[in-house]
Amino acid sequence: MKFDVITLFPQMFASPFAESIIGRALHKGLLSINARYLRDWAQGRHQVTDDAPYGGGNGMVMKPEPLCRAIDDVRGENPGAPVALLTPQGRRFDQGEARRLSGEPGLILVCGRYEGFDERVRGRADVEYSIGDFVLTGGELAAMVIIDAVARLLPGVLGGDDSAARDSFSDGLLEHPHYTRPVEFEGRRVPEVLLSGDHARIAAWRREQQLLRTLQRRPELLEHAALDADDRAILARLRRAETLT
Ligand code: SAM
Repeated sequence: MKFDVITLFPQMFASPFAESIIGRALHKGLLSINARYLRDWAQGRHQVTDDAPYGGGNGMVMKPEPLCRAIDDVRGENPGAPVALLTPQGRRFDQGEARRLSGEPGLILVCGRYEGFDERVRGRADVEYSIGDFVLTGGELAAMVIIDAVARLLPGVLGGDDSAARDSFSDGLLEHPHYTRPVEFEGRRVPEVLLSGDHARIAAWRREQQLLRTLQRRPELLEHAALDADDRAILARLRRAETLT
């Protein structure tokens, strides 16, 4: 998959993807990340990319001409790739969107700075993403979050195992808790079932823990999760137990 990022700070993208899983995937050619310098599409001696807001007020606004030229050119080089503006006012990015985007041939991410984009840039994008209800100084960190979440779902990136399919949100629930050695740490033992070697019991325990975690921490997810009759029976029991405590 071909990721292109339009940014005033392309050098920010080198180090976060140089290491570990994404670094290896880049090395193997499973994906590419091209950070493109917005100023290359700006004109004039000073290659200006921002200007004062009409109507007055603090801060600068990103000019539409360099951004739209950059988007048009990069779209031509990465055909079929959706163009996404990063903005706190966009649709909330989530695991479902990460999964959907991982099926695209590419993705073009456009990073804002200052007060954000001139409103007329919005028409050039296919989608606008926010990574949460808070305001960052620029879209670069948001773009990195999205690239990371999408890239790990690409075939071969996680080394062929199916751990992404079991991660939180993949089936609409939070993931079960994990334990590793030692068996006892600060007086707390690993649950006996995980030491039993009984795969059916372990699977049942994990499913119940997923339901319990989601009920306790993110109950609203249960409204849209794919639950079967067994899950519903477990949930009913867990809810009764919760009200008793
Ligand atoms: N004035 C804008 C507003 O209130 O909606 C905020 C602009 S913010 C300081 C500068 C840039 O950071 C935005 O154009 C966007 O690209 C990026 N950004 C900030 N918060 C973000 C978020 N939660 N998700 C995605 N991008 C964000």
